[in-house]
Amino acid sequence: MTDTAALTATIDLSAIAHNVRVVAEHAGAPVLAVVKADGYGHGAAPVGRAALAAGAAELGVAHLTEALALRSAGIDAHITSWLHTPATDFAAGVAAGIDLAVSSPEQLAAVAQAAGELGRTAVVTVKVDTGMGRSGVAADRWEQTADLLARLRADDAVRVRAVMTHLPFGDEPDHPINSAQAAALDEAAADLRRRGAAPEVMHLSNSPASLTRPDLSRDLVRPGLALYGGDPIPGRDFGLVPAMTLTAQVALIKRIAAGQGVSYGHMWVAPHDTTVAVLPAGYADGIPRLLSGRFEVTINGRRFPGVGRICMDQLVVDLGRDGGGVAEGDLAVLLGPEPDQNRAVDWAQTIGTIDYEIITGIGGRTERRYL
Ligand code: PLP
Repeated sequence: MTDTAALTATIDLSAIAHNVRVVAEHAGAPVLAVVKADGYGHGAAPVGRAALAAGAAELGVAHLTEALALRSAGIDAHITSWLHTPATDFAAGVAAGIDLAVSSPEQLAAVAQAAGELGRTAVVTVKVDTGMGRSGVAADRWEQTADLLARLRADDAVRVRAVMTHLPFGDEPDHPINSAQAAALDEAAADLRRRGAAPEVMHLSNSPASLTRPDLSRDLVRPGLALYGGDPIPGRDFGLVPAMTLTAQVALIKRIAAGQGVSYGHMWVAPHDTTVAVLPAGYADGIPRLLSGRFEVTINGRRFPGVGRICMDQLVVDLGRDGGGVAEGDLAVLLGPEPDQNRAVDWAQTIGTIDYEIITGIGGRTERRYL
């Protein structure tokens, strides 16, 4: 295997398409593909296009700027954005036809005002906090929000596209809060219906809930991680395929004498004469420093241990006494879908985090390519 870039994230869009279909099948509902955080580090626009082509119904992001970037990339599908501040440019959102998910009556009023100034009807989703305790309309603000929504709806100032909520325990499928939150969302929708502001659709399921609790699927499910082939419930195999292969080109090979230390602090000292490879990948590119000495890479189908501290730009791999047949320019696979390659969840479990954090962190000088 040879390549030109020092560090490359190759994104297999057919894996994204496969994962969209797997999730929709498990959920029994169409997919609203979550492509926030630049498509979980995979590229929001290419992933969004691939997901839509594979049957996803619509897209979702956190920041309005992310939604506008998708529009600028030529994506005209329905897009919801759900995390706003008082500085959010709602007028730009309304003008671009973005579904603005509001978390308070103040946000709803601001969206309606922006739409009024443009002479347009805003498309809104009401994000309901049924137990997550972060964004979403809190219980003590519901009455005010629903009342305002009904008035705005009656004036055609807004179109009530959806109600949505988010699950803090989606990865614990049997947790009783999951069903309670679904019931609370159903009740919110019923309340809006009674007020003449019926939402067109409802959605609450994230990846783990989409895969394990089809009874919670409403009109849409809202997965992110699963679409990228992450492991929404580590240890459970749903047939998802990791879309990202992260490779680094071997920059340098050198002999190290027994007793010689490697990298900062000489955390690793060669126990015998050996050969090491220097890879142009470091924590500035999203390789967690906490993985130092606790990971392996695959080169030409063989596994080799990372040794010494992971630096900002480089890391070192022990090729063994005989050099393992590795040459400068060979590709080392850091993350990949094959059985002899690491999944992001492997790194995550080693350092006590989640694969979401690993894949969204890959970046820096990494060149992205699409298959
Ligand atoms: N919906 C909302 C509101 C989210 O914030 C997220 C991500 O955190 C998702 C859906 C997708 O979650 P997951 O990646 O677990 O599928």
